[in-house]
Parts: sequence; C-alpha cells; structure tokens
Amino acid sequence: MVKIGIIGGSGLDDPEILAEANECTVTTPYGSPSSTLTCGTIAGTPVVILARHGKDHSIYPSGVNFRANIWALKEQGCTHILAATAVGSLRREIEPGHLVIPSQFIDFTKKREGTFFDRGPVVHKPMAEPFCPYLRKLLADNAALLGLCAHSDKTVITIEGPRFSTKAESHMFRSWNADVINMSTVPEVNLAREQKIHYASVAMSTDYDCWHEDEAPVTWEMILSTMRKNAHNVINLFVQTIPQIVSCDDICNS
Ligand SMILES: [Zn+2]
Repeated sequence: MVKIGIIGGSGLDDPEILAEANECTVTTPYGSPSSTLTCGTIAGTPVVILARHGKDHSIYPSGVNFRANIWALKEQGCTHILAATAVGSLRREIEPGHLVIPSQFIDFTKKREGTFFDRGPVVHKPMAEPFCPYLRKLLADNAALLGLCAHSDKTVITIEGPRFSTKAESHMFRSWNADVINMSTVPEVNLAREQKIHYASVAMSTDYDCWHEDEAPVTWEMILSTMRKNAHNVINLFVQTIPQIVSCDDICNS
C-alpha cells in the first residue's frame, strides 16, 4: 500500500488534480505545516498535497517549517513524496522550461532546522543517495513517454535566499559541478529520508541564474512567468506517474 505526498512549490502551490478532494488542517510537534493538506486520490492512489510556501505563496524560503511539513505528511501515512520546485540553470543545455530530476544535492543553506535527530541518541544518517532511485527512474521514464525534455542525474545546490546569487557565487557553484540552484530542496529531502519516506524532486528550470553572459540575470517575475507557462508539464508528469508507484522499501536503502 502506498500513499503519495506532493509538495507543491512556486507556481504549483495549489494544483487541482485530485478526485474526492477534501481539506484538513493539522498541527505537529514542530508547529503548523505551510498549508492545509488537500487529501484525495489520483486514479485510485491516495495522495496528499501540501503547498511549501502556503497556498497564497506567503512563506519565504527560510521561513518554511520543513520539519512540520515532513512530519505532517508522515503522520498522514505518506510512503513517497514527489516535490516540485523551481530552479535556476547553471548549465547551458538545461534551458528554461526543461525539467530536471536531481540525484544529488549540495547544502549551502545557513539557518534551517535540518534534522529530527537533535535530541536523544546521536544519529548520523547516510546521505550518499538522497533521492529515491526508483522514483527518479519512474519519473524519467514517464517524462520521456510524455515527450518532455527532462535531465536526470543532476546536482541541485540549495542556497538560503531569499536573495539570488552574485555572479561570483554562480560561477563558484558551476565549478562545484552543481547543475541547478534553488532555495527549497534542502532540508526537505534529508528530513524525508530521516522519516524513511522515499523522496524525489521534479525541478522546473526557469532561468539561467546570473552566470550566463548572454542572458538577463534572474528575477522573480522571470521565474513565475516560466513556471506559469510550463507548470502543466510537471502536473501531467505527476498525474501520469503516481498510479504506477509501488512500494520500493525492498530495493531502496532508505
Ligand atoms: Zn525508494
């Protein structure tokens, strides 16, 4: 039995894709999650949707209560999480509108609560493969079937924000082999791993950050415009993929 959590990001705060949808308000030992939970089904598979920045997009990146969000989805019984996020591209070939399915992250955040293991016995969680390989392959296969341009096995760097990078930082991140940049994947993915939830992210490339001399430096308006034009691709990919998801506890080391 599987249950899928969807964490909607910028431009995907409230996708109306569920049958038999109902809203519920929950609290957790870590406080309130970013939004009410929308529970329903997609082709018979139970799904819970949460809006990372609130349904009115009012929560800035450092203000997201990531622990409450992951706890709330765990408490609902979610076995898998599909997360949507907007990213800036650090590679010429990852064009605005393309999708990216990351396999690695670099943590460049500075002031976030990034663990549930801050009390009790010390726990050091392995993080060599942070994103569920089963979900990543399923998403990549379905993206190809849908004719979407999706880049697999990429590295996302998460910065604190809310400001964007300087050119010096953007070039440094490229030299570290980061492929895309955002403000939300960490600590969401590692908190999900701590709760033994299989997690994968579908990132929408919206801009070229500020390293690309031929392109205008990123603005928030640029991100929203690209997301609005292409959000249906992420939604289609989720709707196509979710009914195929089965338990991967036996094949993933979560
Ligand atoms: Zn898995």
